[in-house]
Amino acid sequence: MLLFCRCGQAMTLSFRMLVFENMYQIDLVPILECEDCSTYELIPSFKQDVTKLLAELKEQQREGRVIFTSVNELASVLYDVYKSGQELLEVSSFNAFLIEKCEERINLLLDLYGYASKEGDADWMEAISFRLSSLSSFVKKRQFLETK
Ligand SMILES: [Zn+2]
Repeated sequence: MLLFCRCGQAMTLSFRMLVFENMYQIDLVPILECEDCSTYELIPSFKQDVTKLLAELKEQQREGRVIFTSVNELASVLYDVYKSGQELLEVSSFNAFLIEKCEERINLLLDLYGYASKEGDADWMEAISFRLSSLSSFVKKRQFLETK
């Protein structure tokens, strides 16, 4: 099953910059886009993360551009998939494919963690655990795109 827009066209994965209150810019946010009626929607799995990030930016009064894929590990994996030209929006195979990519990233981060631990770099270890935690919770849930 593909994900469809209200107009009946299949939607495609894309990334765009979202601007809030003309002040806070979050770039490379994963969206689903319909080229036919040029509407787009934020992927539901990321809604909470974007809201949380925006609240943090407001609290720090940090204007300017933040790259979502550099603060959100799952978005970063998804962006790699997007850049490699995968246009898989068949929901079940996309979920499986993304989980596989996340597992690859987790293994990479675990290697990095081992290295950081050997170096005794506590800050680095903490940063890596943070990146790992969001991916592991996604892999456990095994659900990314939901069918409507
Ligand atoms: Zn449409």
